[in-house]
Amino acid sequence: MAAEEEETFARMRQEMVDSTIRARGVSDAAVLRAMETVPRHRFVPEDYLGQAYADHPLPIGYGQTISQPYIVALMTESLDLEPGERVLEIGTGSGYQAAVLAELVDEVYSVEIIPELAESAARRLRELGYDNVRTKQGDGYYGWEEYAPFDAIIVTCAPDHVPQPLVNQLAEGGRLVVPIGPPGGYQTLWQYVREADGLKAYNLGGVRFVPLLREVPERPGE
Ligand code: SAH
Repeated sequence: MAAEEEETFARMRQEMVDSTIRARGVSDAAVLRAMETVPRHRFVPEDYLGQAYADHPLPIGYGQTISQPYIVALMTESLDLEPGERVLEIGTGSGYQAAVLAELVDEVYSVEIIPELAESAARRLRELGYDNVRTKQGDGYYGWEEYAPFDAIIVTCAPDHVPQPLVNQLAEGGRLVVPIGPPGGYQTLWQYVREADGLKAYNLGGVRFVPLLREVPERPGE
């Protein structure tokens, strides 16, 4: 893509951070920097390029969406990440959230249930040089045992209860951010912190996510 175009996208990205993300209260400097850095336009379908930096979700095929930038920033901030940490994401989708995480920590693991999306996101992340992200196709309900424990886990699709395997794979002091609620409706975004004396829960407000699926859809919607 021409340098001029990249500059235009960089300006749009800065505007997105200033006018929505920062304006709506996300203040963690590292998170804001990551949002200013990741080229979101490389994660949206060609037809939606003009909306790449608008503050709403966009379709990515198979009935799935790339989340709204503000929500990506809010969830990322709620993970309280430190450089050097290891993070698990459930719901790779376009790979955008994984790239944002990869700007902030050493190791990112991401699981996607729809094989076509898992493959295209892996390719995209590789092309963009995010070599600290490891992806796999599978049901993220079970987490990724092989690389547990994780300092933080983010779920970008909505289960109707907290998957116990994810809690089990959380390090002590680890944070789990997950929207919980009925499929097709609104959910509550929760931050769970695994402390020595148990799991603490903090309500982060109402959100709307695609459901966490328990099997590969036979004919995923477009
Ligand atoms: N984080 C993504 C947003 C993806 S939308 C991004 O930045 O683009 C949620 C994704 O979760 C969809 O791609 C959907 O296919 C996936 N998903 C749904 N159920 C899942 C499951 N059980 N395990 C892993 N991924 C799942």
